[in-house]
Amino acid sequence: MRFFFPDSQDQIDPAYDFGSEQSPEFRVRQRDDRYAHEVLQHPSYTGLLVSKPIVDGYAASSGKYTMAQRHRLYRLGVRRFFRLDQPGWSISTMGDCGAFNYAREEVPPYSVDEVIDFYDGCGFDYGISIDHVILGFDETDAAPEVADWADRQRLTLELAGDFLRRAKLRHCSFEPVGVAQGWSPRSYAEAVVELQRMGYRYIALGGMVPLKTFQIEVSLRAVADRRRPDTSLHLLGITRCDQVQGWSRLGVASFDSTSPFRQAFKDDKDNYYTAKRNYLAIRVPQVEGNARLKAQINAGRIPQKAAVELEQRCLKQLAGFDNGESTAQDTLDALVAYGNLVEPGRDRRESYAEVLDAQPWKVCPCGICAQAGIQVVVFRGTERNKRRGFHNLFVFHRRLSENLERKARGVARPA
Ligand SMILES: [Zn+2]
Repeated sequence: MRFFFPDSQDQIDPAYDFGSEQSPEFRVRQRDDRYAHEVLQHPSYTGLLVSKPIVDGYAASSGKYTMAQRHRLYRLGVRRFFRLDQPGWSISTMGDCGAFNYAREEVPPYSVDEVIDFYDGCGFDYGISIDHVILGFDETDAAPEVADWADRQRLTLELAGDFLRRAKLRHCSFEPVGVAQGWSPRSYAEAVVELQRMGYRYIALGGMVPLKTFQIEVSLRAVADRRRPDTSLHLLGITRCDQVQGWSRLGVASFDSTSPFRQAFKDDKDNYYTAKRNYLAIRVPQVEGNARLKAQINAGRIPQKAAVELEQRCLKQLAGFDNGESTAQDTLDALVAYGNLVEPGRDRRESYAEVLDAQPWKVCPCGICAQAGIQVVVFRGTERNKRRGFHNLFVFHRRLSENLERKARGVARPA
């Protein structure tokens, strides 16, 4: 099972100083900052997925790339841009159109040739055909067909046909991946049949981001009945990854997901992964960066000086705890005192005690935890939060490969 990580230009500064919370004075982002695959013990994804709207921007959003980065990507190609060719690594690259960015439009905003220019120009290994997301799902296959759903599926199939023809005519080196869009198990299966007839042997199932796990599963079962043995499936944008290993028997060869990374700073409980369980990260928001706290200070309800003192005490206690100078008790007291100010009535002492007691960062071999220490479990600012996200990618990749190995040996996964 191959795991593609969707790029969003997430990097860390390896020389960042947690004490002063500063980067070195002469840091040059493009030269000094590092992607997850460069700082983890080993690259924790088999591929990178790069979306055209993330690179070029789309409509109101300007994308994640600066103008200079965009030019570098086109000039150097995707492999050199991401520094992917290191000894012992094998990271593939996949280009896509980020259909959710334009899902509300009548038709996709790109022409087939524009998209091929992007894939071919950057030198991707795989290129995904242009698709249009269907905003609805009926797992029973019983509801009357909605005209817009059928239109979007037909358009997606037409674009896939053009895409394959044009890519062949232009002698492109990337492998074309056809997208199946559907609104039900049967309609997904029919789209797969049509793509196979066109000649596609690598087919991505799109529009699955909002689907529940059982809805994906019934769709995969319907597709499995019509899938040729030599057709591989890719799942585009999976948010819950627990079931994904089991889907290899239904023809799923790869998927992409941002969840392990994003949960580090988006989830309200599963922020820091370990092999056995997930932990809540320790919240120490910046007084300056916290909207609620700022409002309270501006309204004169909380003295700014007191807030900053409590915040700084948390950071000092956490660093002290990590090097054995502070007790868990004192550290928790500081965290609770500041927490009461930031989010009154929300007591996280118990969850924080669990992570301080286990100290999972002290035994983690990801390559980040050993360097960042306790800072990796602190929910605060982009340098800490992204490090935790990268760490999660490492743990997720391990869970994935261990489960696959266990399955290959025929040993049941322990409950
Ligand atoms: Zn780690």
